Amino acid sequence: LESLDVGAIREEFPILQREFSGEQLVYLDNAATTQTPDSVVDAMSDYYREYNANVHRGIHHLSQEASIAYEEAHDRVAEFIGASGGREEIVFTKNTTEAENLVGYSWGLNELGPGDEVVLTEMEHHASLVTWQQIGKRTGADVKYIRVTEDGRLDMDHARELITDDTAMVSAVHVSNTLGTVNPVSELVDIAHDRDALAFIDGAQAVPNRPVDVEAIDADFYAFSGHKMAGPTGIGVLYGKEEILESMQPYLYGGDMITKVTFEESTWNELPWKFEAGTPQIAEAVGLVAAIDYLEEIGMERIEAHEEEMARYAYEQLDAEPDVEIYGPEPGSDRGGLVSFNLESVHAHDLASIMNDHAVAIRAGDHCTQPLHDKLGVAASARASFYVYNTKEEIDKLVDAIDDARQLFA
Ligand code: PMP
Repeated sequence: LESLDVGAIREEFPILQREFSGEQLVYLDNAATTQTPDSVVDAMSDYYREYNANVHRGIHHLSQEASIAYEEAHDRVAEFIGASGGREEIVFTKNTTEAENLVGYSWGLNELGPGDEVVLTEMEHHASLVTWQQIGKRTGADVKYIRVTEDGRLDMDHARELITDDTAMVSAVHVSNTLGTVNPVSELVDIAHDRDALAFIDGAQAVPNRPVDVEAIDADFYAFSGHKMAGPTGIGVLYGKEEILESMQPYLYGGDMITKVTFEESTWNELPWKFEAGTPQIAEAVGLVAAIDYLEEIGMERIEAHEEEMARYAYEQLDAEPDVEIYGPEPGSDRGGLVSFNLESVHAHDLASIMNDHAVAIRAGDHCTQPLHDKLGVAASARASFYVYNTKEEIDKLVDAIDDARQLFA
């Protein structure tokens, strides 16, 4: 694999040229939100300048153009993640969180009851953890958690123990946004299916930076967010197998999701529109397509290799510091492009603040995995996360800032 031409890539992201107090921005908060290349901004601005209109209902030219772009965006996403059923299997949501809630409310509230079990992992993001915890409380279903081992991986023996004939749903994160672990999701899905349970995979940290084929994984549901993959905020994707989506009740009611409405009754539109009530994210769908085009032009395998290289370099630099504790597996093919850590004598928030003084943007906090942080025995961690435009020189600046923080707090 030829490595990325990061210099050329950076030119497409003018935001990376910003300076703060004379220092150039080093953006290492990509697991939260990635930056947006010109091509995505241009596609969205062309939409507003050239063919902005509401979709589905219009007879006029603009509405027809907007409708075609919006509908075809579903086809493009389907192709990108290997969903052979096409647009029927692709529901646009606000983000990954809404995709989780859609399945929780629509499938969970109707299908779960006392005696049923939902199996999650200890490394779930709150998006799935809180959703299933609360749907569990409302339906009487029990929620269980697959253990995370000392080295930050899923305990698959425990998974086989927990997933039983009582299990109705297994929901697991594909790549952990805190530990960086790439989980063996196809194996988990197979275990779930052996017990006739469904499997929901949270791909928010996977789709942006590695090839993902939902049918190879055999996930029943798979979710991700546009803003973590060089696309716009405000749009996420729920993939679902067609026959399962077909059997589910809508989650939101209103315009566009109906076929026939009387004062007494309503019937539902076909997939995926049944799950897309009201005026949808049209400009964002256009932007998401431009982001997919952008990523595919670089090549998902090359992006994955670049992320692995960045993570390995950061891990090694941080690991060389005696007072830095790193969470998650050692570098390798089962670690994605982020590193969470703590500096012994400095709180993660102070560390992030000192980094910010050097224009180095990282995240500090629990990264929406509070129970996992409890298990790690810390309230917070610092997290550096990488994307296509990051360089080893930027990671060096991160390490320099750590030296600075240590001196300040010594
Ligand atoms: N799951 C994972 C693994 C994530 O990293 C995130 C974002 N931090 C989410 C879910 C939620 O994504 P969003 O905020 O776009 O809904």
